Amino acid sequence: MSHLTENFSRPEKKEEVVTFGSLDTTVQQLLRAASEVRQRAYVPYSGFKVGAAFRAKANDQIFAGCNVENAAFTPSSCAERTALAKAVSEGTTEFSVGAVVAFEPDVFTTPCGVCRQFIREFATDDIPIYVAQDIDARFAAKEEPFRSEDPVLCTSIFNLLPSSFRTYRK
Ligand SMILES: [Zn+2]
Repeated sequence: MSHLTENFSRPEKKEEVVTFGSLDTTVQQLLRAASEVRQRAYVPYSGFKVGAAFRAKANDQIFAGCNVENAAFTPSSCAERTALAKAVSEGTTEFSVGAVVAFEPDVFTTPCGVCRQFIREFATDDIPIYVAQDIDARFAAKEEPFRSEDPVLCTSIFNLLPSSFRTYRK
């Protein structure tokens, strides 16, 4: 081993899938915030709505964001980056936990590569990330977005992006 790898991002906990009902109420609240903001996603091109929410380390304030698409495609912003850009704009750069929700029938929708790097920028320590499926039919029926038995992926930014690039230049 070289000392040059000592500062690499390595997750403290492995990924696991748990039920929504087993989560701390503060995490459940964060997932609900991500679900709520997801309904405001601006996605005229893909129709693929994503919501994300991060909790500020200092005061537990929640910053939520949706994806925002553009006719020229490249300028589009993912939900995770929208949420974090909102937080940084308000003076918050440290986060204790994040949540991402979308819906694909057969897979959890985890952050894209660009967003993993964007989250990593603000992760001096590992940040737990909770990923859940958000079912639109429940929103349409005015039901609660999540049920106790719903599966939730508990991962973290160091799981999603190990050995990641980060500069420590001042
Ligand atoms: Zn992304």
